[in-house]
Amino acid sequence: MASRDPVADLRRIAFLLERANEATYRVKAFRSAAATVAALPGAELAERVAAGTLAELSGVGEVTARCVTESFNGEHPVYLRRIESTAGTDLQGAAAALREALRGDCHAHSDWSDGGSPIEEMALAAVELGHEYLVLTDHSPRLTVARGLTAERLRRQLDHVAALNDALPDGFRILTGIEVDILADGSLDQEDELLARLDVVVGSVHSNLRDDSARMTRRMVAAIANPHLDILGHLTGRKVAAGGAGDKGHRAGRTRPPSDFDLTAVLGACLEHGKAVEINSRPDRLDPPKRMLTVAVEAGCLFSIDTDAHAPGQLDWLHNGCERAALCGVPVERVVNSWPADRLLEWTAGHDLAN
Ligand SMILES: [Zn+2]
Ligand SMILES: [Zn+2]
Repeated sequence: MASRDPVADLRRIAFLLERANEATYRVKAFRSAAATVAALPGAELAERVAAGTLAELSGVGEVTARCVTESFNGEHPVYLRRIESTAGTDLQGAAAALREALRGDCHAHSDWSDGGSPIEEMALAAVELGHEYLVLTDHSPRLTVARGLTAERLRRQLDHVAALNDALPDGFRILTGIEVDILADGSLDQEDELLARLDVVVGSVHSNLRDDSARMTRRMVAAIANPHLDILGHLTGRKVAAGGAGDKGHRAGRTRPPSDFDLTAVLGACLEHGKAVEINSRPDRLDPPKRMLTVAVEAGCLFSIDTDAHAPGQLDWLHNGCERAALCGVPVERVVNSWPADRLLEWTAGHDLAN
């Protein structure tokens, strides 16, 4: 039998585990094995498969060695077959049409902040999903638990992204961005000059989530009015139990009720300033709740259907957001990441000009 590509098979397994929201250490085993095997000279791989010594390599364990051996011998690895058989998420009708229309993702993290993978791996996964762009939105400085980027690190990241873009396939690009904290007074947690330079700014509330309604509303409205903010991230900050197979989002103590705020005022501000409300696809967030999403549709808001991915496989969570968007009647023309990159950038640049 002709040999399969063991590195591609290991990466595919990692992707599907991430997509199923499996624990990071399980995914890491496959990603490190893929890196180790990719770095081997061709002859050594064949020798080690024949001699059964793959597991002696650092980064390769018994399970990953078995996958490599099967793949090298032209067999569809048993482990891969097993997770592929449980990975089906066929979308129907309007949800499928929405998913089909999406050209990119406006909210994703790398290992520069609290993501698990380098920017290039996130970008390659986005390419494989058929995206035309991926907005890189690592956290801002005050979110120290998530290794938020200082202004200096963000400047370095911008140089790094520019270099990566030169090497990525034509027809795809990483857009620069940030998930900037909306601070207690409604200001944004990064230098104005940098926020102005970034392609896309997602602003989210991560602290003082139990502020009273009046305070939270003032804070959110001030952030939405800030010309740098383009997309309001995970509207309510809630954490939910999700139904999807393999979802580990619901652990004891990890659920959180939505914040209190005046929905009409917040959506009104988004409408007035032409900002998008994010439909966050993370199985542990699914934010906004459907009743609020319906109100936002009726109000005429723009939307961005995002994954908030912290690992490559999570970039394939868009179906969660598309299903909810379809249920609530979100019209595709109001979804900013269904737009080509140039139109998206024109829209975000328009906010900065309103300064
Ligand atoms: Zn966030
Ligand atoms: Zn995020």
